[in-house]
Amino acid sequence: MDGAPHLVVFIADLTEKYQAQAELLQHRDHLEELVARRTIELEQARQTAEHASQAKSIFLANMSREIRTPMNAIIGLTHLAERNTSDSAQLTRLNKVSDAAHHLLAIINQILDISKIEAGKLELSPVDFSLRRVVDNASSLIIDRLRSHGLAFNCTIDPALPPVLHGDPLRLGQILLNFLSNAVKFTERGEISVSVNLLRDTDAGLLLHFAVRDTGPGIDPEQQARIFSPFEQADSSATRRFGGTGLGLAIARRLAEMMGGETGLTSNPDDGSTFWFTALLGAGRSDTADLGLPITQDDAERLLATAYRSTHILLVEDNAINQEVALELLSAVGLQVSLAVNGEKAVIMCTENTYDLILMDMQMPIMDGLAATRAIRASGGKQPILAMTANAFGEDRQRCIEAGMNDHIAKPVDPHNLYAALIKWLPTPSLFNLAAPASTSSGLDRPTEISQATLDDIPGLDLQIGMKVLRINHPLFIRLLQTFLATHSNDSEAIAAALNSGQADEAERLAHSLKGASGTLGLLDIQESAKALEAAIRESHPATQITDQQALLATQLEQTTHALKQLFSTQSAP
Ligand code: ADP
Repeated sequence: MDGAPHLVVFIADLTEKYQAQAELLQHRDHLEELVARRTIELEQARQTAEHASQAKSIFLANMSREIRTPMNAIIGLTHLAERNTSDSAQLTRLNKVSDAAHHLLAIINQILDISKIEAGKLELSPVDFSLRRVVDNASSLIIDRLRSHGLAFNCTIDPALPPVLHGDPLRLGQILLNFLSNAVKFTERGEISVSVNLLRDTDAGLLLHFAVRDTGPGIDPEQQARIFSPFEQADSSATRRFGGTGLGLAIARRLAEMMGGETGLTSNPDDGSTFWFTALLGAGRSDTADLGLPITQDDAERLLATAYRSTHILLVEDNAINQEVALELLSAVGLQVSLAVNGEKAVIMCTENTYDLILMDMQMPIMDGLAATRAIRASGGKQPILAMTANAFGEDRQRCIEAGMNDHIAKPVDPHNLYAALIKWLPTPSLFNLAAPASTSSGLDRPTEISQATLDDIPGLDLQIGMKVLRINHPLFIRLLQTFLATHSNDSEAIAAALNSGQADEAERLAHSLKGASGTLGLLDIQESAKALEAAIRESHPATQITDQQALLATQLEQTTHALKQLFSTQSAP
């Protein structure tokens, strides 16, 4: 090497590389732009969907209210017309209007339920409740159809279950009623049976198994998988014959799932079906349970007309037809009612008068029910305020409670629910109110003087049960015993007369009503025999058995009413 510097040159053509880099950058920018655009589009789509879902919810709530308001008029006015007519042809027509209206309402409720479920807006309202009451309630709603189909009925509740549970009794009853209604609808002969069993006692609660078995046509295996889906019906020819929306089972499945349970069925064509569901429930506290009144509509009306007769109610309602329905229903049972046509009027009237209870519509001009309730509470009003409203969504109920209301009665107002809610919320009548109505004998005027010790001597009376079930005080309990005496002491003669003239349905109805009334008051012997007689008539037992059962009931009723009459007449002696 000569030490001279050398130059080594590498030549590379980088054009492609730079081009590629530039393209890559361009792609990256484009991709970012694309992602940004798609994100905006997605967000817009999400907002549109949310908006549509909100619009749908608002539409459903409005539609529900719009339908319920005229339904309130139809159901309420039909009930009042039924009360006031003695023409049997008219009565039959009115009964049909009433059945049709209730059927329509049931369909509207199903459509609303499925929409609420789809929108994730259906909520459970857990409370302590009596399991027996839920089962009895659902069964009593199908008893007439059961009877007209000539079907036998059987119900068993696992004795291992606590009588008071914690869960949503309305929704439980709804599933049970759906299974029972289907069972009666599709079964032409044989028997329907209900059973409730404790499946497991776990840390999370009690897993209950409810089953409704029928001896109907059964369901094909391939159709079994489908019928729990919305709108599905097993056999379209049967559907044409029986009607139905195909929503009931889908709702039942979702409700059971919300209660931590499942639904299913076992069925063989021609061998009937058993529909079952499970639900995880808590054990209730029997001392705090709202057991409700096991009271028939007749008894509720009688109770309001006697013990609560000087009660003053404020009705707050702007719609003229709803005013008429509610005013008539309330005054029909002898309550005093004042009317406020909007919330503002109600607030003013509350400063001038005292009311024992307020029935409050929610949507009204000038001032709505929520604002009026807040104003009444703010100025110290403590009486129960019950919303009476066609807004049937869970959040509406919540808003009512938050505004200071105590409870919620859905429109259309079922007269029985209204009366039961009044009895539940009205303050226990004072001794002053308990003076006997003018029409009853003066012997019943001083109920409070009867001591518990004397009551212990009444045959067949379990005082603890009577007082506990009614959750009321001693004087009112005496008043109820008097009402029982006045209205049921001739029941065994009436039942005998009905049986002798071939009116088995009437005899069964009387036995049923006697069973309810005696059970409410803790008259357990009468309740048991009335129950046995009712079942014997319904299941067409041999005539001798029915006569024996009836004779036993007559003896017990005679013993108890005799003792009660004696007690009341001695106590009233000067
Ligand atoms: P709907 O009875 O209103 O049509 P459901 O969802 O309650 O709606 O029932 C869906 C279908 O399941 C019914 O149409 C019927 O075909 C079938 N089904 C339900 N219960 C029974 C039953 N106990 N026996 C026979 N078929 C039944």
